[in-house]
Amino acid sequence: MSIGGGVAKALLRGRDLGCETIQIFTRNSSRWQAKPLTDSQLAEFSKNRLLTGIRPVVAHDIYLINLASPDDKLYQRSIAAFWEELTRAEQLGLPYVVTHPGSHVGSGEEEGLQRIAQAISHLHRQGPDLKVQVALETTAGQGTNLGYRFEQLARLLELIEGAERVKVCLDTCHIFAAGYDIRTPEGYADVMAEFDRIIGYERLAVVHLNDAKRELGSRIDRHHHIGQGHLGIAPFECLLHDPRLLQVPMILETPKETSASGEDMDMVNLDLLRQLKTN
Ligand SMILES: [Zn+2]
Repeated sequence: MSIGGGVAKALLRGRDLGCETIQIFTRNSSRWQAKPLTDSQLAEFSKNRLLTGIRPVVAHDIYLINLASPDDKLYQRSIAAFWEELTRAEQLGLPYVVTHPGSHVGSGEEEGLQRIAQAISHLHRQGPDLKVQVALETTAGQGTNLGYRFEQLARLLELIEGAERVKVCLDTCHIFAAGYDIRTPEGYADVMAEFDRIIGYERLAVVHLNDAKRELGSRIDRHHHIGQGHLGIAPFECLLHDPRLLQVPMILETPKETSASGEDMDMVNLDLLRQLKTN
């Protein structure tokens, strides 16, 4: 949800769409520098949280950050920026910062995973009392992005100091692009059983509901409106009826567009999901 006009405005936009949960950037997502949150911004945010009843509000980190970078300068900059992400989310009282784990940019997958684990371990030591938790997102595996196999997230959980503080975010478009076929109830059951075996349902803190513009295993990260891409309706029906996910916030990251008939596509996607939920 856009934070144009200030973080607190995102809650009002969410309320207007009938959202029960939202995801936000806590800062301009295309810049390294961010102004600190002011007391009045924090006060307005908590006021709007009470007013709208939206919870949880989940943070997503900015895409400039690469905790797997083999370039020391960029690596240190990323760690410092991720620390800011955590502290801003903490100030706002948000439970999770969702992050794409990182890109190894040619240094190799295991080396990249080691870098990410060292970075998050460092941040855990730097903030032993932080309540906000990192949620590692499953990725499409585009380029040298890590996190496209459940095993890679499991490896991170094995390497990170204080891994009990780390959660996972599952993105339907990303796992499909990475080769996990959830298009049928049987496929969904198999993939989620694999997720449970390798990572564990108890780690799953956030779900991103996105259809996919590209085919199974494309390794290309292109989100589409629910039911309009290669995933179709079935996986969303499965997720919405999965009894193990009743308490897990589910968030759309579909394109911010208007339909041919002038409807806000967020509203169209939400209506469709609510129909699937009650069917
Ligand atoms: Zn996502």
